[in-house]
Amino acid sequence: MPVTSGRNVDVLVIGGGQAGLAAGFYLNRLRRDEASGRSGPAPTFAILDANAEPGGAWQHYWNSLELFSPAAYSSLPGYRMPAWKGEGNPSADHVANYLRTYESRYDLPVHRPVRVQAVRAADGGGYVTDTDRGQWTSRVVINATGSWNTPQFPRPPGSDRFAGQQLHTAGYRGPEPYAGRNVVVVGGGNSGAQIAADLAPTAAVTWVTRNPPRYLPDDVDGRALFDIATRRVRALAAGEPEGGGVASLGDIVAVPSVRAARDAGLLDARPMFSRLTPGGVQEEDGKQLDADVIIWCTGFRPDLQHLQPLGLTTRNGVPATDALPATRSVDSPGLFFLGYGDWCGPASATLIGVGAAARDTVAAVAGSVSL
Ligand code: FAD
Repeated sequence: MPVTSGRNVDVLVIGGGQAGLAAGFYLNRLRRDEASGRSGPAPTFAILDANAEPGGAWQHYWNSLELFSPAAYSSLPGYRMPAWKGEGNPSADHVANYLRTYESRYDLPVHRPVRVQAVRAADGGGYVTDTDRGQWTSRVVINATGSWNTPQFPRPPGSDRFAGQQLHTAGYRGPEPYAGRNVVVVGGGNSGAQIAADLAPTAAVTWVTRNPPRYLPDDVDGRALFDIATRRVRALAAGEPEGGGVASLGDIVAVPSVRAARDAGLLDARPMFSRLTPGGVQEEDGKQLDADVIIWCTGFRPDLQHLQPLGLTTRNGVPATDALPATRSVDSPGLFFLGYGDWCGPASATLIGVGAAARDTVAAVAGSVSL
């Protein structure tokens, strides 16, 4: 089924991870409705993805990463994630394979590897998108580039003098290279807890968190997180009091590997150090800790450099958008954001949450931009 017409489409989706594929699912559905006579003309579309392989960021995660939900609660619209036969929750590879199957099952028009370099406003409306493989034009852009390519990498005092190795979550693949070494893991979120737990059996791990670690109750997983996030966003939209969302419960999902390490006493966090030294880190009270390696599990920022030519205004550090359910740029009405975080819909950075955000985004695209 040819979905694109050359390099000019109605809707260009940038990013072929779970968010871009979920958008593709609903754009495809518009075409199905058109073919069956249930609706008028459906937009043509294409999905551009910088990765050489399907799977979005999941293909780059570390081997032992464990989802915080069972397979049945980690699915995109239309097709349930196959059951996971291993222990605990599914691995990152299982998700990457699922996404590969998903895009071929729905015959989604993903072009890869294609890296978008710049999106500009076209004369007369719409967008011109420059890529490393030529130019595209479209009336709408759905931006779904995730945040894996833009890690937040702090530079505390002394960083330049530290003689060991520093890496970010994004560079961590597994515990093997660090066996027998002194490793400082920084960060009190899920990545920090999971990586510290992963390393603890084979390395001398010091886990450092800005505030004491806050585990979610052991029975809270991705299902509950989605429900809580949804209630919070709905309450905010209705101007009603809300309970603070997931953050009010804790920061760390106690997946089985984290729970086991925590219960074995392997996850005792120390407070954040004040500086790096040539041989390690120095705490507030002057105490020195040796470190061969520092792993910064300090989060990511939305990957939006290619939108710079549009000169978007920002609000709370992200592009200013219309109210939910669909996040449309206030500066550039044909530009939508999908994935990233709650500002794009409840739990829209998760597998279980992005489907509803994609449905609302595609409905807004179809309903409000005259295609
Ligand atoms: P991505 O998966 O990052 O996909 C974006 C795609 O856009 C990539 O393929 C990228 O190559 C492409 N791209 C980026 N820039 C460009 C460009 N300029 N041009 C073209 N293409 C571009 N969620 C859960 O539901 N359950 C979990 O257990 C869970 N665990 C997580 C653990 C970790 C360590 C992390 C970091 C996240 C976790 N998440 C989890 C959150 C979430 O599901 C993932 O972050 C997910 O990958 C986000 O999907 P996405 O499609 O928005 O972005």
